[in-house]
Amino acid sequence: STAQIGVTGLAVMGRNLARNFARNGYTVALHNRTTAKTRALVEEFGDEGDFVATESAEDFVAALERPRRLVVMVKAGDPTDAVIAEFAPLLEPGDMIIDGGNAHFADTRRREKDLRDQGIHFVGTGVSGGEEGALNGPSIMPGGSKESYASLGPMLEKISAKAKDGDPCVTHIGPDGAGHFVKMVHNGIEYADMQLIGEAYQLLRDVAGYSPAEIADIFRTWNAGRLDSYLIEITAEVLSHTDAATDKPFVDVVLDQAEQKGTGRWTVQIALDLGVPVSGIAEAVFARSVSGHAALRDASRHLAGPTASTLGKDEAAAFADQVEQALYASKIVSYTQGFHQIAAGSEQYDWNIDLGEVAAIWRGGCIIRAAFLDRITQAYEAQPQLPSLLADKSFAEEIAAAQNDWRTVITTAVTQGVPTPAFAATLAYYDSLRAERLPAALTQGQRDYFGAHTYRRVDREGAFHTLWGGDGTEVES
Ligand code: NDP
Repeated sequence: STAQIGVTGLAVMGRNLARNFARNGYTVALHNRTTAKTRALVEEFGDEGDFVATESAEDFVAALERPRRLVVMVKAGDPTDAVIAEFAPLLEPGDMIIDGGNAHFADTRRREKDLRDQGIHFVGTGVSGGEEGALNGPSIMPGGSKESYASLGPMLEKISAKAKDGDPCVTHIGPDGAGHFVKMVHNGIEYADMQLIGEAYQLLRDVAGYSPAEIADIFRTWNAGRLDSYLIEITAEVLSHTDAATDKPFVDVVLDQAEQKGTGRWTVQIALDLGVPVSGIAEAVFARSVSGHAALRDASRHLAGPTASTLGKDEAAAFADQVEQALYASKIVSYTQGFHQIAAGSEQYDWNIDLGEVAAIWRGGCIIRAAFLDRITQAYEAQPQLPSLLADKSFAEEIAAAQNDWRTVITTAVTQGVPTPAFAATLAYYDSLRAERLPAALTQGQRDYFGAHTYRRVDREGAFHTLWGGDGTEVES
């Protein structure tokens, strides 16, 4: 037993993660259901470090130093359970199974509990950054026990991405499913970021009249400022790309039906369960869903809309600046919503998640990496009990400065008939929180009217019901 870590599941993610461990000086045991993949890895990349190729589960487990650290990188869902069922009987108390797949955190909680009874640490771990990140340094979100992190943490810190200040993009998120929960919300925020960028693009195209190449330049300018992020950077790359076959902008030859794998949807489903309003993320998930309804869209193209008009050159440049303000304000709100969800999950499951640390480990390696995340860390460091990112003075001031433009952009979108669901939903959330009074009072009245659901009053404690069908007197219930 010579390997410090083992990886089973050697598709793109597992293979690159195994190479990352090996390149960092660890001896890595390898295993895959289809053994040809194991052999291929060693043939192609064997000179990158020390690998121990194994074919059977028994040999794999025997190759590992104790306590064993066994990374599972297989298809999420039933395959993960099958692999756990295969390996768990071969393990001993103190050993660790690290599930780096995109598991649902509820599955992770179940698996952790089952294995805890056997003394095995199950470490549900979010890994972000795609195949590139897995190889060169992902952002890593491990859950599970403190003991497992003590053993595993230093290795993960080595292979993780490093933020600009050199800090490793990994931290012990919290017990059991905390890591996978945070990875899920990361993906939800990623959906919102992408949708907001998409809406900004559409406005620059349809309202300002810019070409994809011109919009790419605008995004490059934005990337030099406060919106500096991986997603803005790659957006410029995608928009400036030309399709070789047609010589048209690449973005014009791609079918406009977005796909999804499910973590965005999970984020919204769980947010509904927790009662957290993540409207920006939800609209982003729904926007992909709308795009995919080809028949519905075909049947709707004739529906009436406003006559669109394109701005003149000077107006277009001014409008682009306003869109930057809108994008930034909406981004602050969607992160506010995502962090609210993490706080709510942490509360519900007793995870004690450090929100500032979460922002810190997203600064490198992952898809939503951005300069902006430093600011979120600072906000939570200054005030760990911050009720909302919008309660942070500097974010509030930035939104205050952006809000007129934010409103103008959304008004323009509405007037011109350009759909901007995520821009609009995030602004509505902001205005809802700001509002002195919400129509929820009326909702309570309606509920009391048809269902005797009772209401509370602004001026007295207690629950009240009005005898709507009777003489209209109020009774205390
Ligand atoms: P896949 O999700 O395509 O999974 C393929 C791997 O799972 C193969 O090694 C395959 O073995 C194995 N596998 C499937 N079913 C079983 C089974 N019943 N028993 C044993 N092994 C099985 O691979 P990826 O590398 O794309 O992803 C791995 C995990 O990482 C997934 O959970 C994914 O969601 C997650 N992830 C992926 C990211 C990405 O960018 N791709 C990013 C972050 C996380 P075999 O070769 O024998 O078929």
